[in-house]
Amino acid sequence: MSIDLIRGGVAHNLGTAAIMNTGSWRVFKPIIDHEKCKPCVVCSQYCPDGIVRYEKGKEISIDYYYCKGCGICAHECPRGAIEMVREGV
Ligand code: SF4
Ligand code: SF4
Repeated sequence: MSIDLIRGGVAHNLGTAAIMNTGSWRVFKPIIDHEKCKPCVVCSQYCPDGIVRYEKGKEISIDYYYCKGCGICAHECPRGAIEMVREGV
């Protein structure tokens, strides 16, 4: 598949991001400690896949179907509320 780039670097007709099960790549899984989490949404802002979700009045959540386990959310969380845990342990 080819992607046409236009001025400004915006890519149109992107490929398979929406249908790929990128969560199947994961070795480490981010686990949120909801006792520590005060929903500042920093993790959501840093997640490269935009799959950390927050709705007012609900706990913050991660869509594990897409989460690749990169650990950026855990690294950036100012409250240490996300732990990366090896899959299958
Ligand atoms: S960055 Fe940490 S404290 Fe902030 S919403 Fe995410 S898990 Fe909660
Ligand atoms: S581990 Fe990476 S992909 Fe998964 S929620 Fe955190 S920042 Fe997003």
